[in-house]
Amino acid sequence: MARGGSQNWTSGESEGRPDEQTTEDTGDKMVKETQYYDILGVKPSASPEEIKKAYRKLALKYHPDKNPDEGEKFKLISQAYEVLSDPKKRDIYDQGGEQAIKEGGSGSPSFSSPMDIFDMFFGGGGRMARERRGKNVVHQLSVTLEDLYNGVTKKLALQKNVICEKCEGIGGKKGSVEKCPVCKGRGMQIHIQQIGPGMVQQIQTVCIECKGQGERINPKDRCESCNGAKVIREKKIIEVHVEKGMKDGQKILFHGEGDQEPELEPGDVIIVLDQKDHSVFQRRGHDLIMKMKIQLSEALCGFKKTIKTLDDRVLVITSKSGEVIKHGDLKCVRNEGMPIYKSPLEKGILIIQFLVIFPEKHWLPQDKLSQLEALLPPRQKVRITEDMDQVELKEFNPNEQNWRQHREAYEEDDDGPRAGVQCQTA
Ligand SMILES: [Zn+2]
Ligand SMILES: [Zn+2]
Repeated sequence: MARGGSQNWTSGESEGRPDEQTTEDTGDKMVKETQYYDILGVKPSASPEEIKKAYRKLALKYHPDKNPDEGEKFKLISQAYEVLSDPKKRDIYDQGGEQAIKEGGSGSPSFSSPMDIFDMFFGGGGRMARERRGKNVVHQLSVTLEDLYNGVTKKLALQKNVICEKCEGIGGKKGSVEKCPVCKGRGMQIHIQQIGPGMVQQIQTVCIECKGQGERINPKDRCESCNGAKVIREKKIIEVHVEKGMKDGQKILFHGEGDQEPELEPGDVIIVLDQKDHSVFQRRGHDLIMKMKIQLSEALCGFKKTIKTLDDRVLVITSKSGEVIKHGDLKCVRNEGMPIYKSPLEKGILIIQFLVIFPEKHWLPQDKLSQLEALLPPRQKVRITEDMDQVELKEFNPNEQNWRQHREAYEEDDDGPRAGVQCQTA
């Protein structure tokens, strides 16, 4: 993914560019640098939703709880998200790159702590809440579109810290907690170091004996069950009710089911739904979108087609007599989209985009073409005169020549349907 430094994606200067061969699409957006986009694995043209989703997946994967060795990566993901999720900052970055972000406003780059960004995103309530409560535990739960359509209950096994029952969270026998004799309860140790003749340096470090707690438990009184840690790791199974109409990225909260710590309110377990891509349907809000291939004969003469729904019913759709379906045409079926969350009897619409399959060359013997032509709308006559140039029509290959800066015009719009949806009632 890493692209070499900053690039100016302006048209007309692509000759001799070292990455001429890459087919990677940067969308139709010109940006100065792509580094932040690369970190999140999205295109510079990504929508705010795509950026959110990319952050969600990566932040959960690289969170220090799950990946303690990837702290730096977690930080980069967080910084990239902080910039790209803010329209103003994203604009500054797109135009001026990282340099502009660092110079912007106050003069110094003021990134929030990766943990604060994470907590804000997943609803952990920020640093203040974190200090008074145990840690929230965030888990991703993979679901299918069928699960979100029909609703499902999933069991999830979690590891969490619970207060040790044996010592009731003391870490040892009652009264065994004593002020740390090494640091005298301060939690810090001060070392005096001679760094030259008559010169000393004071170095403060976290007390090794009590790990900064200021108190310790005499090793002989330590609780055998938790070994003085006050908490033990326990496996817990929770049942997650995925309700009809829930969506990708939706959070399900289990209040107080997070890690327990002595003298703190336990944190929450937050389950984040992660929808797998579906082979037929794409979801957009309450609506489902699908592509349907039809033969040219069906496009011209009508058709009957079946669609298997997400709850295993079969829909039959029929074109109206005399209707012509063009390549890319959009039609829809009411009430066959996604159920609406908390109101599952209502549903969105199912949008069908038709792709007309044209026959291959020489599909029809030469002598039959005239018969076909007689049935089709008449062709337009063209007058050819002497002064016109006869040129050869060849296959177009966008990779062969330097067409890249004009590519947008030829590219198929894979964002799916946009406008002009007509509805038919099922
Ligand atoms: Zn100590
Ligand atoms: Zn214990």
